[in-house]
This record gives sequence, structure tokens and C-alpha cells, in this order.
Amino acid sequence: MDFDPPETVKPLLDKIEKFVADVVMPAEGDILERGFAGAAPQLAALRRRCKEAGLWAPQLPKDLGGLGLGLVEHGLVSERLGRSPLGHYAFGAQAPDAGNMEILHRYGTPEQQATWLAPLATGAIRSCFSMTEPENPGSNPTILSCRAVRDGEHYVVDGHKWFTTSADGAAFAIVMAVTNPDAPPHARASMIIVPTDTPGFDRVRNIKIMGDEGSGWGSHAEIWYRGCRVPVTNRLGAEGAGFLIAQERLGPGRIHHCMRWIGICERVFDTTCRHITRRKIDDEKTLATRQIAQAWIAEARAEIEASRLMVLHAAWTIEKKGFAVAREQVSLIKFYVADVMLRLVDRAIQLHGALGITSDTVLAHYYVHERGARIYDGPDEVHKMVVAKRILARYS
Ligand SMILES: Cc1cc2nc3c(=O)[nH]c(=O)nc-3n(C[C@H](O)[C@H](O)[C@H](O)COP(=O)(O)OP(=O)(O)OC[C@H]3O[C@@H](n4cnc5c(N)ncnc54)[C@H](O)[C@@H]3O)c2cc1C
Repeated sequence: MDFDPPETVKPLLDKIEKFVADVVMPAEGDILERGFAGAAPQLAALRRRCKEAGLWAPQLPKDLGGLGLGLVEHGLVSERLGRSPLGHYAFGAQAPDAGNMEILHRYGTPEQQATWLAPLATGAIRSCFSMTEPENPGSNPTILSCRAVRDGEHYVVDGHKWFTTSADGAAFAIVMAVTNPDAPPHARASMIIVPTDTPGFDRVRNIKIMGDEGSGWGSHAEIWYRGCRVPVTNRLGAEGAGFLIAQERLGPGRIHHCMRWIGICERVFDTTCRHITRRKIDDEKTLATRQIAQAWIAEARAEIEASRLMVLHAAWTIEKKGFAVAREQVSLIKFYVADVMLRLVDRAIQLHGALGITSDTVLAHYYVHERGARIYDGPDEVHKMVVAKRILARYS
């Protein structure tokens, strides 16, 4: 077993690490202060530099202008991008576009690919994914009220969604809507592309996350779809195949998220080590001389290393044996790594004292904007239940 990153990607990983440290991180303060919509020119400049450096869209196939990396390789890249809140966006690898590009690449018709995938791949437009509804449990998405009713060669979409990430400024939404209400629960919904300039598309608001409504890519919207009429050719894949496609989207998506969270852990760890080795707690000694801080450092290091091994192993399993074989591993990493990340962020804030809750470090940004990690893509409790049921079934 070889634990070294593959020789083929080592130089690329070094280059990406350096680009994130030298170009992306220095831009953070200004961009996060302005917000994603307000900082559009600065973000565009970052992306231009990323393209010029030949680093654009590591996760995309080469024929779409990407670097054509496999899942394990992209996992390693994703960790490096995760060291900055702007990393994935600067490199064209950000959720929800990355997942949408993946399913458009796999299930899109040539016409859908030309209209939507090609401009997404270059970063000319953005997109969003609209499944969760305020009135229904997102943790059981077979329960959906949104309907897409066939009317000749069109669907008429009616529904109420929220937490549609990045809808603000997106060119289109991929909407999960019930097309076959009488089918079994997992075959009722379809994915339908709804351009955001369709009459009846109403982005009501950006929902405030712990007081911050965000903007542009960094936002989560509430949306009403009122009689949105789109051609039947806007359906992605077969009618009723929405959940099947969603599963495809979520498998690699969870690997990307987990590796991004490990990148966050490394950033938080580094920030904390720097702080406690400088912060004096009396005339001579720094915080780093205290056993409680040392224990935190050791525990955090162990948890990060364990997380990385688990996630890369899950990515390797998906790549070599398919998502069905990796299902249990993917559930394990989803709740385990999210928990490790949030504990690290919280402890880092504690060791920074009052400074930790200011916006003078990146910690408060993570505290607010990463708390959702234990909720989206399946809450902790659901993943734990899935894993436990599968394990216990082997004993019964
Ligand atoms: C930051 C963020 C971004 C998001 N982006 C998107 C997006 O782009 N598109 C989109 O469609 N959705 C998005 N979501 C929504 C997300 O998918 C849902 O929040 C998630 O599926 C949980 O659904 P819910 O919020 O309705 O919680 P509920 O389903 O109401 O569940 C509430 C809580 O109940 C508990 N629970 C639920 N089921 C069980 C169970 N079976 N056993 C035990 N406990 C249980 C869990 O603790 C859970 O957190 C996003 C959410 C967040 C936080």
C-alpha cells in the first residue's frame, strides 16, 4: 500500500498549494468583507489568474477544459483548495456547480450540454440545485410538494423551495419536482432545468445564516416556482430518475466536501499553532506551554490524520469498486469529518479568546458558514442510522 500522493499529481499539488497561499489567501480579507456579489470583479480576477496558471477546474474532464483528475486525485486537490474559503470558487470547483456539471456531463443531452454545461465549465455562468422545501423534511427528500405537470411539450413547475445555495445570480436551477406522483417513492421525482429568467421564478430572499444573508455565490435562497413553463427537453435523464441521479451527484460530492473540510481543519490547525506559540499568558510563557493546549493540538492532529485516511479510502473504494460498495464508508466520513471540523473550529476559537469571534481571523467565518456541514447532504443522525442498520443487519 502506497500512502504517497501519486507521482503524477505531486507537482500539481505543490503548484496548487502555492497558488492558494500566494494568490488566494491574500485576497480573502477584502473579498469576504465585500461579500461575493460586491467582490465580483476581484473574484473574476482570481479566476483569470487561476486559468493563466493552468489550474482551472481540476475536477472536470479535459474535453471540458478541466484537468481530468480522478476522484482520489481531486480529493487531494480539494483539501488544498479548502484551506481558503475562496479556494474552490477561484478554481471553478465550487458546489453546487461542480455537482451540477457532473450530472449534466453524465445525463445531459447534447443540447443541454451546449446550452448549460459549456458555459458552466468556463465559469461564464453559475447554477443552483433546488430540492429542499421548507414545508417538508429535507432529510427524507422522497416527500416533496413541488410538482412538474406535463402540458404538451412543456412542464409547468409549481413549488416552494429553500436553502437553494447560490441561486442569487445563477443562470438556472436544477429543480427536483414530482412528475410521477403515483410511482413508488424513489421514482416520483425528476430533475428539471429551470432558467432563472423563466416567468414565475421568484427568488424571495437570501436566507440569513446566523445573521448573514450573504450574496451571489455565497448565499442560500428561498424560491417560489409559480407556473414556471419549461420545455420537456429541459428534463435531465429519464422521467422519475431524479433520485437515481441525485445519488450519483452526492457520492463524489461528499468526498469533495469532506476533503474540503480537511483543508479547513489544516487551516484552523495552522492558525491555532501560530497563535498559541506567540500568545503570552504571563511575562514569559506562551499558551503553547499549557498542557491543555498541547492536548488539543495532539488530539486535533490525530483527528485530521484519521479523517484524511478515511476519506481517501472511501474515494479509492468509489473509484475502484463503485459507489454501491462505498455507501457505508461515505456515510461514516460524512458525519465523522463534519464533527471533527466543527470541534476543531470551536476549540480554535476558544484558544484565540475574544479574537476568535472577530472577523480578524478566518475562524468566525468558518464558525458561521460551516455549521451546516452536519445538516446538509444528510444530517448526522440519518447517516449514523444508515451505517448502524447495515452493521447490525450482519448480526441478526
Ligand atoms: C448550508 C446549507 C446548504 C444547503 N444547500 C442546499 C441546496 O443547495 N439545495 C437544496 O435543495 N438543499 C440544500 N440544503 C438543505 C439540506 O439538504 C437540508 O437542510 C437537509 O437535507 C436536512 O433537511 P431539513 O433541514 O428539512 O431538516 P429535517 O429533515 O427537518 O430534519 C431536522 C433534524 O431532524 C433530525 N432527523 C431527521 N431525520 C432523522 C431520522 N431519520 N432519525 C433521527 N433524526 C433525524 C436531524 O437532526 C435533522 O438535522 C442546504 C442546507 C444547508 C444547511
